[in-house]
Amino acid sequence: MTKDMNAVPGDLRRPIRIALPNKGRLSDRALELFEQAGLKAQFRADRALVASLGDDFQAIFVRASDIPEYLADGAAEMGVTGADLVAESGHEDLLDVLDLGFGRCRLSVAVRDESDVRSAAVLPPGTRVATSFPRIARKYFESLGTEIEIASVSGAAEIAPHLGVADVIVDLVSTGSTLRVNGLREIDTIMISTARLVASRAALEDDVTKQVIDDLSAALESVLRASEKRYLMTNVPRDRLDEVREVIPGLSGPTIVEVLDGDDWVAAHAVVDADRVYQTIARLKALGAEGILVTRIERLMP
Ligand code: AMP
Repeated sequence: MTKDMNAVPGDLRRPIRIALPNKGRLSDRALELFEQAGLKAQFRADRALVASLGDDFQAIFVRASDIPEYLADGAAEMGVTGADLVAESGHEDLLDVLDLGFGRCRLSVAVRDESDVRSAAVLPPGTRVATSFPRIARKYFESLGTEIEIASVSGAAEIAPHLGVADVIVDLVSTGSTLRVNGLREIDTIMISTARLVASRAALEDDVTKQVIDDLSAALESVLRASEKRYLMTNVPRDRLDEVREVIPGLSGPTIVEVLDGDDWVAAHAVVDADRVYQTIARLKALGAEGILVTRIERLMP
């Protein structure tokens, strides 16, 4: 057989596909993040399941829990979904590219309030576990050396212990209020989950696709990093610069700019932590700073 010299590698025939959650907890934040990174989804119609995402990417919208399967099947090269769902899928050929930080929750073991069990390690063999994460639950109890019985449910596992269907549950928790309301108590955390940018091993093994994935990951990371920071500009007395440097060290020392006819004043610019802006402003004012301006940053690449 002769080799077709004009063969086009599969990944060049169509844009790289990113599977995004079509609804649920992760979906709005995922779309917003891509838009902030310059990839705004362009839908052809309302409720379309496909959208173009910038020039290089196409988004497909599917259930967060199905995303690992689409990636494993090669229907998409990348996806955004919860780390819990990737683990539960059992697909080993999916790799975490970037922790996106949002959708933070934990997968925990919980028992009824009145139970005196304080740790999953003391649960006896034959314990019945209600969960929509059977694979993770089984693996976890295996690691404790306990054989369990799984009652597989697709949601609302909290009721199972009260109905006598299960002794414990393995479920996602964020504030813990759902457990409390349902008379349950957490005894152990199996894993912490956040939304992840994941890619298939096959996509990462292709040099061209890998480069595109790395560039996208860097762009998303720069947006995430920027969201925790603010850019602060202020006029400060020239003779307090040493103290100003301590208050706003910035990424590599504050930028100091001459103020025209400023004489005793200079302008100081620096990147500061968003969650400390309040204290930073108070400290700068105490040093005599004036004209303080704080703005959001779109991207930050140190
Ligand atoms: P969805 O069912 O589409 O809302 O998405 C569920 C996914 O959102 C979970 O698998 C987690 O990855 C994530 N998530 C974040 N916080 C929570 C929470 N408190 N409860 C359930 N899922 C959460």
